[in-house]
Formats: sequence, C-alpha cells, structure tokens
Amino acid sequence: MLTDVYPWQQGIWASLNRLLNAERLPHAMLFAAPAGTGKRRLADAFAARMLCQTPSLDAACGQCRGCQLLAAGTHPDYYVLSPETDGDKVSKVIKIDQARAVVSFASQTAQMQGYRVIIIDPADALNTSSANAMLKTLEEPGQRCVFLLLTDQPTALLATIRSRCQLLPLSLPDEEDALAWLRPQLSVPAMAETLLGLARGAPLAALALSESPWFVQRQPILDALLAVGSGAEQPLTAAQQFTKVNPIEQITAWQSLLDDAVQQGLAPELPVRHSDLPSLQKLAEINAQCLLETLWQAVEARRLLDDTNVAAATILDNLWLHWARATRQGGHHVR
Ligand SMILES: [Zn+2]
Repeated sequence: MLTDVYPWQQGIWASLNRLLNAERLPHAMLFAAPAGTGKRRLADAFAARMLCQTPSLDAACGQCRGCQLLAAGTHPDYYVLSPETDGDKVSKVIKIDQARAVVSFASQTAQMQGYRVIIIDPADALNTSSANAMLKTLEEPGQRCVFLLLTDQPTALLATIRSRCQLLPLSLPDEEDALAWLRPQLSVPAMAETLLGLARGAPLAALALSESPWFVQRQPILDALLAVGSGAEQPLTAAQQFTKVNPIEQITAWQSLLDDAVQQGLAPELPVRHSDLPSLQKLAEINAQCLLETLWQAVEARRLLDDTNVAAATILDNLWLHWARATRQGGHHVR
C-alpha cells in the first residue's frame, strides 16, 4: 500500500491527514529533510491519500479508480516534476519548458473531480528562470491544486520558492526508532549502529550503504592504504587490486576512511565512525597534515572524474602515487 509511511513519520502523517480532513491544506508544502529519510515515500503516500476517492480518515483505499490510476502511473490529476534524464545522466536543473508545462497543468480543472497534486523533486533543481516561470502558480495554484516540494538541501532552494511554501517540520528520526527499523533488514544486525552513524542518522541511506560497493570495500582499501603507507606495497600494485571497483565508490571509501582518521587524530574523544575496523587506528596515527592533504587530493580526484575526460585509471593511479609520496615525506610513515 502506498500509505505505508515509515514508523518515524507517523506524527507528521497524522498532522497532514488532520489538515486534509479539515480542508485546511496549504497549497504548497515543503518537505525538507536529509537524503535517505524517506520523504518521497511520505509525499507519495499523501498524494495517494489526496487522490483516493474513498479514503479512510488516514489512508488511501488502494482499490478505487483513483488509486488504480495512480498505481498504474496514469492518474490525470497527478504530476511529478523532476530533472530530465538522458540515459544514465540526470540533468542538474529543471528546465523552463518543464516549469511551463506544470503551469499549464495547474491551470486546468481536475479530471477526477478531486485534488490535483504536483510533486517537485528535488525543488532545489529549479533554477532562477524555471522558478520565475512558476512563482505565480505556486502562489495561487487554483482550487484543490496542491504542490508538494521536496529537498535534501533547503539552503540550496531559491528564496522566492521557499517563501511561497509552508515548511513541514520533518526531522531525522530518533536513533532508537531508526535502529529498530534498520536492524531486522540487515544480514548483520550488529552493523546497524556503524551504518546509521556513517549515514548521519538517515535510516534509508544506512540500509543502502550496507550494500554499496564502497562500504564492502572499506577493509581491503584500508589494508592497502596501510601497506603502501608503510612501504610494504608499491602504490601502482595497490591500485591494480581495485580496477574492478567503480572509481567513484573507491574515492568515496578513501574520503570516508581519511575523514574518520583525521577526526580520530585530532579529536580522539569523538566516536569512531568506522567502529568495526580496528586498523583504522593505525591510519589515525599518521600525521594529520598528510591525511588532510590526501583527503583534499581525493576531493580533487572526484572532481576530475565528474568534470573532465581524464581516464579514471589515471586519476586513481595518481591518488595512490600521491599517498605513497605523502606518507614517505617527513617521517609520516605508518609504524
Ligand atoms: Zn482509493
């Protein structure tokens, strides 16, 4: 059922339903919460509730014509505005033509005699021109037309858009609630706290992380960093071990391990994020300057990968060569 919101969303779900049942819905609502907290599911569930023709007080029925059309992706009063995709590439912005199409949709009357729902995901993909094209519509969308805007990054949202929306009080779930949901879904439930910490408290992100290549590759990459740092292994030999791992995932592992090691070196009283990797302590013993320089190199490697045509293998080879040089200078050797 589409109305199946996550346990930590029950409070806001009840509030949304109270507003709807009292016919006091704002015409534009902003769902602002970190990635991986399930706000799209909340917005989808609420859209379903609005479009259902025979709802209960707090759920869509899943059976009526409205529910069926929505499930089939053909509901005439439901519109999702997102950046266009071209193969694997997702555009970074919502284009002005797309915004104009929404304005046109909002100016029509509902075909099913109920609400019309427009989801904008993510709303921070609206640039100045596409936002300007729809400001007036966002302010006065017409009767029973409701905008649900989603963002992971409220600060990246244009002020003109933000000021026209009612901000929903979404927040990160309590750690207890998040862990209770996460543990039964993991093949190793004891990893729940580490995963949730690395995902900065976002439960869906933590679950996705458990299966991501970089998380699975952390230990081998850490072993190789220590081996190269101590001179036991040549940097290009280390690089060879990971040619089958996606380059972005490799760099993500570097960043996360180095970031944690820097924190351990500078503020040992803070909890270790990779708490299941005891050998991270060895990385943390390396000079902080060396770790920070390499972290910066990893950020730069990521930029080169995203924005240039430099071969991924070259970028990664250079990162390993940098690490070998940096750890050998000025007695930064791994002990
Ligand atoms: Zn229904």
